[in-house]
Amino acid sequence: MQRNIKHGRRVSGATAYVRPSSAKHNFNLTIESFVTKILIDANTKSANGVQFIKNGRLVKAKVRKEIIISGCAVNTPQLLMLSGICPGDELRKHGIPAIANLPVGRYLKDHFIFQVFYNTNMIVRTKSLPKYIAQYLRDEGILTTVGNLATFSLFHTTNSSALVPNVEIWFHLPTPVIKLIPPRTNFKADALCYIKKLDQHTNIYFTMFLLHPKSVGTLTLKSNSPRDFPLIDIGIFEDQEDMEDFYKAIQIVNTIGKTEAVQMVGAKQIKFQFCNQYAYDSKEYWYCALKHMVLPGLHISSTVEMGSKDDPFAVVDSNLCVYGVKNLRVADCSIMPTTISGHTNGPALIIGEKAADIIKKSYNISL
Ligand SMILES: Cc1cc2nc3c(=O)[nH]c(=O)nc-3n(C[C@H](O)[C@H](O)[C@H](O)COP(=O)(O)OP(=O)(O)OC[C@H]3O[C@@H](n4cnc5c(N)ncnc54)[C@H](O)[C@@H]3O)c2cc1C
Repeated sequence: MQRNIKHGRRVSGATAYVRPSSAKHNFNLTIESFVTKILIDANTKSANGVQFIKNGRLVKAKVRKEIIISGCAVNTPQLLMLSGICPGDELRKHGIPAIANLPVGRYLKDHFIFQVFYNTNMIVRTKSLPKYIAQYLRDEGILTTVGNLATFSLFHTTNSSALVPNVEIWFHLPTPVIKLIPPRTNFKADALCYIKKLDQHTNIYFTMFLLHPKSVGTLTLKSNSPRDFPLIDIGIFEDQEDMEDFYKAIQIVNTIGKTEAVQMVGAKQIKFQFCNQYAYDSKEYWYCALKHMVLPGLHISSTVEMGSKDDPFAVVDSNLCVYGVKNLRVADCSIMPTTISGHTNGPALIIGEKAADIIKKSYNISL
């Protein structure tokens, strides 16, 4: 698996791009600065600055050329909407002056995740934290890896010769350091009870990612305050076909789970007791488990979709320029026309690289 890792440490846009550029004479960075609005002339529809809060003060930064927003697939659409680039009903609801009526946040896509766990006769014991830290400082050990991931595969659930997979499956070994399901979810009590029984030291498990769900979600404003988080509905199982695709992925996992290699460690699938009203392993049983345990993929995209002018969900064109507003570009995961067949961190950097090429070309800059 490809990872953004250098010498065992995760690399980010900041460490790979921003810090190496920070000494350049034409580069200015302000941190701890919270952008609250893009300033746009309502008559000419041209963006001419941004407004941000720094040290409790409202600051305005004006531009001579253009503004590029890279706030991610959640914050970018929120900022556009707060600045008047928004579906009309959203503007009216929150009393925001209109700049452009565009379908921002109306086509939210994400990957969906479902996991199946097994008890085994393996035991991985936890070492002391200083030992893990000492290993990490030598660029080795579990803290330098992507969790306890042993291997991963890409499949298409209905077409084995398809060039584009629709499911990614991870196989995890017991882990000394990582909680099996992070406490970020709003599971119901019976699902939480199930999670409590999982044992990271002995369980192996499979994680399935649905890479191209048909379900579509939305991102809307909670209020016209930039301090309020926007409302995100990732649309899980809006489209029933997604459940069927997951069911087919589960059958692949079940087949792997029954292989000699997996059975060598005495693997026994941990049943979802809250679905006991259905026969174990029946379709109804898995649909029930899916409804209880499916997770968001944390790979949100497409809320400021790139597309042709006649695409009903398009907000930016192929040069990443916002339709109907001058001097305003978007460069982050929000512009992805739809989900991709992999994870979004690397492609976010690629979008930045491509944006740089487009911008240099449009100003005839050769660097
Ligand atoms: C918990 C978690 C784990 C993940 N793990 C992986 C993984 O292992 N592999 C993978 O490929 N992907 C992973 N992802 C997804 C991946 O991190 C994102 O898709 C990717 O970072 C998106 O890049 P981006 O440039 O669009 O936005 P971001 O990387 O989120 O960058 C947006 C930046 O804008 C800043 N910002 C936002 N609003 C404002 C504002 N109003 N004013 C000032 N600054 C603002 C933010 O602080 C942030 O620095 C994970 C996501 C999450 C949430």
